[in-house]
Amino acid sequence: MRDQIVLHRAPWVLPVVQAPLANGAVAVRSGRIEAVGGFSELQGMYSDAAVVDYPDSVLIPALINAHTHLELSNLAHITAIFRPESFTGWIENMLAERRRSGFSGESVLAAAAQALTSQQQDGVIAVGDISNTGLPRKLSAAFWGELLCFKEFYGLSAATVKGTLQALTREGDQLCTAHAPYSTHAEVLQALKQRSLRLGHVFPLHVAEPPSEAEMMNSGRGEIADFFHERGFWSDSFQPTGIDNTGSVQYLHQLGILDDRTLCVHCIHVSEKEFAILQTTGCSICLCPGSNRYLNVGKAPVVDFLRLGIPLALGTDSLSSNPVISLWREMFVLTEDHPGLAPADILRMATLGGSKALGLEHELGSLEKGKRAAMLAVVLCGGKNTVQDVMEELVSHANGRPPLKLIGGSGSCVTSREAN
Ligand SMILES: [Zn+2]
Repeated sequence: MRDQIVLHRAPWVLPVVQAPLANGAVAVRSGRIEAVGGFSELQGMYSDAAVVDYPDSVLIPALINAHTHLELSNLAHITAIFRPESFTGWIENMLAERRRSGFSGESVLAAAAQALTSQQQDGVIAVGDISNTGLPRKLSAAFWGELLCFKEFYGLSAATVKGTLQALTREGDQLCTAHAPYSTHAEVLQALKQRSLRLGHVFPLHVAEPPSEAEMMNSGRGEIADFFHERGFWSDSFQPTGIDNTGSVQYLHQLGILDDRTLCVHCIHVSEKEFAILQTTGCSICLCPGSNRYLNVGKAPVVDFLRLGIPLALGTDSLSSNPVISLWREMFVLTEDHPGLAPADILRMATLGGSKALGLEHELGSLEKGKRAAMLAVVLCGGKNTVQDVMEELVSHANGRPPLKLIGGSGSCVTSREAN
C-alpha cells in the first residue's frame, strides 16, 4: 500500500522555481513532493489527504549553507577579541589559536557539533564543510540533512605534491578539495580537480578573497608572498601568471579547474576579463558576506554576477571569521551591503543556488515535484498581505533565525519539528 499524501498548507508558499502562491500547499508522500499549488486545487486532486496547517507562516525550501569550516567553531572567541588589520594577520592569529587549543580534541569536536546543531535549528538541510582534519565527518549521522565534508589540501612545494598524492590514495572516494590557488601547488590543484570529476564530486575552493590575492597570482609578490616567505611556506615552484589586471580566476582557468562542478568561494576581487571566464565556464560562486565584513576584505560584485547569470550560493564561513554563522544573518548582510538587491534573488542563493553549488539540485533547494520534502514553515509577523512584504521579512533577520518549523520526510510519516 502506498503511503498517504499529506498536504502542507500555509498562507504563503515560495517554491523558488515558480511564482509565490497565496494560500498554497505542498503535497508530500513518503518524504517526496508530489505537487505544489493552490490549496483548493491540491485538495481537489487529493481529497483523502491529511492536512497540516501552518497559520501565519510561509513555506520555503530548507536552506543550504554552501561553505563553512565546522572544525574552527571552537575559535569563536577570535572575532570578539581580534580586529584584523590584514588578511594574513588574521590567518596568523587563527593558526596560533588553533595550535594553542589543539586541532582535533574533544573540545574541537564538541564545538563543531554545537555549530552543526545551530545550522539545523536555522533550517539548513545541506552544509558544504571544509576541514583539514576530516573531523566533521564524525558528525554526519547526527544531522537531519546532508553534511558534505570536504578534506582540504594545500602546500606549494614539490614535496607537497608527492605527499598529497599519497594521502589521497588513503581517502578512498571521500570528498577532497584544495584550499586556494595561492596556497596549493598547480599539480595538486589539477590532481584534486581530476579526482573530483572522476568521482562525480563538486570542487569547492577559496578564490579571490583578500585584495592582495591578485598581486600574489600575477607577480608572486605582496602581503601573501611576504607571509609565506616569513613562515618558510614559499616555494619557487609557484609560477605567477605574469599577467597584469587579472588574478585567481584567470589562473584557475589556465589550469583547467573551472567548470560547472567547481564552486568558487568568495570571488570578491574579479577583473573584467575574469567576469567573462566565470560566466562561460558555468562555475558557481559562494558569497560569504558576513565573513568578508569581519575580515574587511571587500564586498563581492553581486549585482554584476546576477546580471551575468552566474549561479550564486550563500555560505557562512567559520566562527573564526564570522561572529554569527547563520544563513538568516547572511541574507540580511547582503541587503545591507547591496541595497536594492531583490529579496527573491537572495532567497534563491540560500536555497536553489546552494543546492546547485553542492551538486544536490536534483534533490533539494526548491519545492517541486520529485524533490525531497525538506521545507521550513517560517512564522511571519502579522499583516503580511503581499509577496513583497513576505520576501522582505525573510531577509530582515539581522540577528539570526526567525521562529520556524523544520519539515522533513522520512519513511512513511512526515515529521515536523519545532526549532527553538
Ligand atoms: Zn572558507
